[in-house]
Amino acid sequence: MMALPIPDGGHISHAKKALNGTAGAVHGLKVRYFEYDEKELNIDVDKSIKRIRRMIKKGKAVTLFMFGASVFPFPHPVKDFRDIADEMGAFISYDGAHVAGLIAGGFFQDPLREGADVLSMSTHKTLPGPQGGLLVSWEKYSDRIKKAVFPGLTSNHHLNSVAGKAIAFAEMLKYGKEYASQIIANAKALGQALYEEGFKVLAEHKGFTESHTILIDVSGTPLKNGRACEEALESANIIVNRNLLPWDIREGRNYLAPGGIRLGTSEVTKIGMKESDMKEIASLMKRVVIGQDDPSTVGRDVEAFRQSFKKVKYCFESRADAYEYFDIE
Ligand SMILES: *Cc1c(COP(=O)(O)O)cnc(C)c1O
Repeated sequence: MMALPIPDGGHISHAKKALNGTAGAVHGLKVRYFEYDEKELNIDVDKSIKRIRRMIKKGKAVTLFMFGASVFPFPHPVKDFRDIADEMGAFISYDGAHVAGLIAGGFFQDPLREGADVLSMSTHKTLPGPQGGLLVSWEKYSDRIKKAVFPGLTSNHHLNSVAGKAIAFAEMLKYGKEYASQIIANAKALGQALYEEGFKVLAEHKGFTESHTILIDVSGTPLKNGRACEEALESANIIVNRNLLPWDIREGRNYLAPGGIRLGTSEVTKIGMKESDMKEIASLMKRVVIGQDDPSTVGRDVEAFRQSFKKVKYCFESRADAYEYFDIE
């Protein structure tokens, strides 16, 4: 399987046996990596295809391409790999765990129509429902996929969340376009605002992101690493997650104290924040990470700011009215 390594945004489920990754350790797959363009924050198509050609020469074909990532600011070049996949008889899988809601809203790429054989997703990230997973594929694969899921991977489905998922999906049908486009507008605005506050937000030349995610190099801040930032921000009631940057391992950092933090705007958007609110978030973050203000003081300002956002948006407003908002067929 060819996938992205963890420092380039790959998920632990795509990782090698040596890292206890699900692909390697559970499914026995040999994992090879795409070549990654660290400036563009995306897969390097030409270099990756060259790598595959070298593999083919040595008699080692790729049988599965795994696109998608946990740091996923820009759409992956699925189309560019369809020909070489066909040449080798390989399948293309697209892990849309993070971006499913953006795809559903029509504001990210459209992996199945770009050549993917199967699209997998979480039902609890930008697609905002109860926890779970979902596969979408073509009719020709249905029997094989059903067998792989049952008995291959699961037995029961989680009945306790079926109705919750139905409502979440109905809400996405009704509000998904608006929600997805606001998530992306907020992410771009947050990137810009943090950049203006002095943060080293990556991919500035591309407008920081085309998804919900931005990635920041915090190694040059007084707090020096993602872990210290994560902890200080948490004390100030701001939740972010420490994250490896593509060059961290090379520079001697590891996942415990990586060089970056990763932020997503799906939650702040769900409670109604807009672009101007991203400026406020950026200024609160600056006080903690760059200004080194006392996190508990900033935390009180975060609490006060949060008071104006107490309603969940992009959803039906009362349980009783759900069917009036949208006709579920
Ligand atoms: C979060 C994530 C997963 C795992 O999804 P869960 O449904 O939360 O277990 C898989 N792949 C990627 C790329 C992810 O980011």
